Amino acid sequence: MAEKDLLKKYREKRDFDLSAEPFGGDKNQKDADKKIFVIQKHEATNLHYDFRLLIAGVLKSWAIPKGPSTNPKVKRLAIRTEDHPLEYADFEGVIPKNQYGGGTVMVWDSGTYSTDKKDENNKPISMQKQLENGHCTFVLNGHKLKGGYVLLRMKNQEKNEQWLLKKIEDKEADARRKPTKTENKSVLTGRTMKEIEKEEKS
Ligand code: MN
Repeated sequence: MAEKDLLKKYREKRDFDLSAEPFGGDKNQKDADKKIFVIQKHEATNLHYDFRLLIAGVLKSWAIPKGPSTNPKVKRLAIRTEDHPLEYADFEGVIPKNQYGGGTVMVWDSGTYSTDKKDENNKPISMQKQLENGHCTFVLNGHKLKGGYVLLRMKNQEKNEQWLLKKIEDKEADARRKPTKTENKSVLTGRTMKEIEKEEKS
């Protein structure tokens, strides 16, 4: 599917005259092959964390109400949301209250990811294929989050796709660390949610 088709839902939900969010399609497509991820803390009607992985040129997205955990024993609900443009990875600011997703957005974490998942013939499985299979395994190299994670699609879906995000047991796993509680600043600008709100509101 062409990028513009993938972003149709994203664009339909937003009024780009009113929201500073990117329309998308501006960045050089060479960036589209990069394996980047971003987690945005989003204080909309309900506070949540938007987890996004760049796959095939767009940011595949999940809303995680409780945010990611570094404890391998904890599974976090991750609700699949519409694909976002590559440019969204740098978006931090305030979406006007009466607009879709109205509220403050912080780039809570960002970085690159890798995947080395293989099929029974020892051939690498692309992230696109893993996504279709409903089972993505990847290693994050972010500022706050590192190490292996898995995203699993739950069965018997109705309207929204529900997935689970879980830390894999590895040297980065830490049951005591609570990054969503203790690490409250933007990795892009060093600002808190309050500072973003204050500085970006016009
Ligand atoms: Mn959101």
